[in-house]
Amino acid sequence: MQLILLGAPGVGKGTQAKKIMTKYDIPQISTGEILRNEVKNQSELGKKAKKIMDRGELIPDDIILEMMEKRIQQDDCRNGFILDGFPRTIPQAHGLYDLLKKFDDGPLKVIQIDVPEQEIVRRLTLRRICASCGKDYNLELNPPSPDGKCRVCNGTVIQRNDDTEETIRKRLAVYRQQTEPLVDYYRKYDHLHVINGLEPVEEVFQKIDDIISNRQKKSKEAMPEQRVR
Ligand code: AMP
Repeated sequence: MQLILLGAPGVGKGTQAKKIMTKYDIPQISTGEILRNEVKNQSELGKKAKKIMDRGELIPDDIILEMMEKRIQQDDCRNGFILDGFPRTIPQAHGLYDLLKKFDDGPLKVIQIDVPEQEIVRRLTLRRICASCGKDYNLELNPPSPDGKCRVCNGTVIQRNDDTEETIRKRLAVYRQQTEPLVDYYRKYDHLHVINGLEPVEEVFQKIDDIISNRQKKSKEAMPEQRVR
């Protein structure tokens, strides 16, 4: 199964991707997480990416596509994967289409999680993350330990550099301009399912699970060969 979770930052893609990963035993591929690891390791890519990420802008498509090409060729992707935060632009969707041609792995499903912007800003300002293992927290719904440590690995829980209100607004503007066109793109090819991300996590998951287990005949074969680049 190849699944794309589409939606603005903060709609719950990461939370849902982890639940799907556990149930279906396929990896979550989060380009944001891969990039944050590069930043942590101070690699060449990490140094370059950090400045862009801190501004709330997007990493160039060619870098992201090269990164993804390597990632989805790894062994754990053989039975499929969940894409979280990728594709984020139309050229990335075209690049993904080319990469998926190498896989013969059944239907591509795209699920858009929809949440109003006001709620996104609220969620992201309350979001915290473990600097060691990456576990997500929410100061109201799911806080870290009272001493500010991660409940899983006892690492330090921090606020992401890009989760400040100013950068959140920038990221949302970038989403509207560069990523939202993917909603129509995938709708056109009949791949898209939209769900309401305001519902509780378990209910959102139930809906995703229904979509995943429902054997629909919406496959990537429906994508036309001729695309306008
Ligand atoms: P995320 O964790 O998905 O919110 O991503 C954090 C940041 O990483 C984004 O604001 C971008 O700067 C960068 N990023 C993640 N995924 C992509 C992507 N597919 N294309 C370009 N930039 C990305």
